[in-house]
Amino acid sequence: MKGKLEPSERQKLIEEGKNLKEGLVTLEEDLLKLTEELQQEAQCIPNMTHPDVPIGDEDCSTIRTTVGSPREFSFPIKDHLQLGKELDLFDFDAGGKVSGSKFYYLKNEAVMLEMALTNWTVFEVIKRGFTPLTTPEIVRSSVVEKCGFQPRGENTQVYSIESSDQCLIGTAEIPVGGIHMDSILADSQLPLKYVAFSHCFRTEAGAAGAAAKGLYRVHQFSKVEMFVLCRPEESDSYHEELIRIEEELFSSLGLHFKILDMATADLGAPAYRKFDVEAWMPGLGRYGEISSASNCTDYQSRRLGIRYRPSEAPPSTTPKKGKGNVPTQFVHTLNATACAIPRMIVCILENYQQEDGSVVIPDPLRPFMGGLERITPK
Ligand code: AMP
Repeated sequence: MKGKLEPSERQKLIEEGKNLKEGLVTLEEDLLKLTEELQQEAQCIPNMTHPDVPIGDEDCSTIRTTVGSPREFSFPIKDHLQLGKELDLFDFDAGGKVSGSKFYYLKNEAVMLEMALTNWTVFEVIKRGFTPLTTPEIVRSSVVEKCGFQPRGENTQVYSIESSDQCLIGTAEIPVGGIHMDSILADSQLPLKYVAFSHCFRTEAGAAGAAAKGLYRVHQFSKVEMFVLCRPEESDSYHEELIRIEEELFSSLGLHFKILDMATADLGAPAYRKFDVEAWMPGLGRYGEISSASNCTDYQSRRLGIRYRPSEAPPSTTPKKGKGNVPTQFVHTLNATACAIPRMIVCILENYQQEDGSVVIPDPLRPFMGGLERITPK
């Protein structure tokens, strides 16, 4: 009969349908697993590198600029730990007792110094056209991943919060990067320049030895961070602007430092190019990294889904007629340290120490410390 199946044929098709349905469930599960694996693998792929980046390990990094020269001392110098002890500026014993090793309390003038450095830096960067922010310090692990960091794994620098999908931030770059996640910005909104204050939390897995002494490498610290979202063709020039601001800030504080163009092995996954600043720390007897300025191009914006709609289509594309048909593009993101407080305290104590055991406060910070000119032994 037309349109009607034999009962046996019908049963066969019903069985086939059931099998297909069951097979589909398995295939969908496989697809999900493979997509996750693909994403994990893709996350390990680093950004491209700028053609001028030196190729090789850290030793291949080149010096771009040197500012000032090491101060000459006519008396035996102390390191920041000894100065901090004699001037009663921090307490690592109590930090260790309450939280664990590499935690500390700042005390007395060191607290004022932290606040002065923060306020002075934020004001200086605002003057240069940046919008100030304070940020959440707990974020979703997915945002950390999208910014190019690995929240899980053996040597992760990230503290994860148990029984949640959240982490403590290692830098304000993460919450600031996330502000415009999953959005299309108007051309006229760019560039977006932020200066953010936050605490930073780092496991510092694998860090040990003399280089990690005292305030130099700790698990929790305050930092003022600059962050820029811009059109792709402008990111190289904003990278130059960020390093210029750092140079101005650190010069105003009277530090001797060099700016390095970091070699490929030292870039980390997100950076296309990175300039580090290393300042002279006389008590430690060496240069120490005090800041880092990275151009991450579209590495973070692709993962975070931050696009913009150019007001005009680039010459290589042929937009369809009509309004709103200019194709969207990923913005470029850049981040740079304006002041990482503990290392700046190391620099100030060690570079401004005096023979009588006091420490002179750099001029720009004095108005932010009630006019205090020097820290003297109590
Ligand atoms: P990064 O975000 O890793 O480029 O770090 C920015 C700056 O923060 C560095 O240049 C250091 O000055 C400072 N910094 C990084 N890790 C630590 C730490 N564990 N303790 C103190 N300061 C740190």
